[in-house]
Amino acid sequence: MRIRDGFEVYWREPGASQVGLDPRCAVLLEDLTEGEQQVLEALGRDVDRAALLTLANAHSVRTAEVDVLLERLRVAGVLLEESTVAGDPDARYWQVAAAAGIEPPGSRLDRVIQICGVDQLGLRIAVILAQAGIGSVLLQDRSRVRPEDVGAGLFRPGDVGVNRAEVGRAVLRAAAPKVGVSVPARTRPDLVVVVDHGVVDPVPLRVLMREDVAHLPVLVRELDVVVGPLVRPGLGVCLRCVDLYRCESDPRWPAVATQAATRPPSGVETSLGWSGAALAAGQILAVLDGRPAAVEGAEMALTAWDPIPVVRHWQVHPECGCAPAALGVSPDTPPQTAKGGHR
Ligand SMILES: [Zn+2]
Repeated sequence: MRIRDGFEVYWREPGASQVGLDPRCAVLLEDLTEGEQQVLEALGRDVDRAALLTLANAHSVRTAEVDVLLERLRVAGVLLEESTVAGDPDARYWQVAAAAGIEPPGSRLDRVIQICGVDQLGLRIAVILAQAGIGSVLLQDRSRVRPEDVGAGLFRPGDVGVNRAEVGRAVLRAAAPKVGVSVPARTRPDLVVVVDHGVVDPVPLRVLMREDVAHLPVLVRELDVVVGPLVRPGLGVCLRCVDLYRCESDPRWPAVATQAATRPPSGVETSLGWSGAALAAGQILAVLDGRPAAVEGAEMALTAWDPIPVVRHWQVHPECGCAPAALGVSPDTPPQTAKGGHR
């Protein structure tokens, strides 16, 4: 047995020790004898019960007192009954989080994520997801690596001109050798991530809506990266809803959006490219793991100068027709609250 991976035992003062540092998961143990503190220290590494009791006996700690101490650690969720091989940092993190009351994610190996738009940002999202244990990360992009895809990213100068998805798959395999980069035909992704610049291309979105596939837009704009809203077809806001609100606040928006859709991408600012990818990947993992996700019915806009994303909530537009049930269940919140969106 031993203290759970990710936790350390700390001596505070005579009679008091603690396990862990973060108050959300740390355990403070007081009124300990010096011998009990020694027993606790011993549990910081693998030790079997016989050796632990021998040590306790040498420090005048009775077996019953050892058992009380072990029970306190067990109840706090920081005691591993059996020695285990140390997990990877992700597994260790979620074990510690479990002691703080957070439900750890189940296996992500059977999860399938598709990323449409493998620019610098899209590839970073893919790598994070692959390294976080998503079983299959599919890359879809017919365009070629552009000079602005290179930089503080994963595409190298020699990749310019080569198909983005092809290079991206090689990067994924190198970063996470166990990740699947292809799946049998007609496999339905758990979530499709649509990475776009300027405006989100509505054409592939219609297909996703028709085929009832959940999707998350990640949009690079002039000043920010916008993640969300998460679209669960038929259950809440869709991106056409967002567009309809935009048209209400700017009647000429369709003309401008049509032009923006054809303009070439302009790349993404370096720090924003990383923070935007991390934000998106964190939300995707939350959705897949079943934790509350901030992008449920909302978008998060992140700039390079403000580390806190601006969250804007969206509701189903009454004229969209995408989720009539959602309109009926939220009569208290008028759709006008979403007007003035800048998407
Ligand atoms: Zn809609």
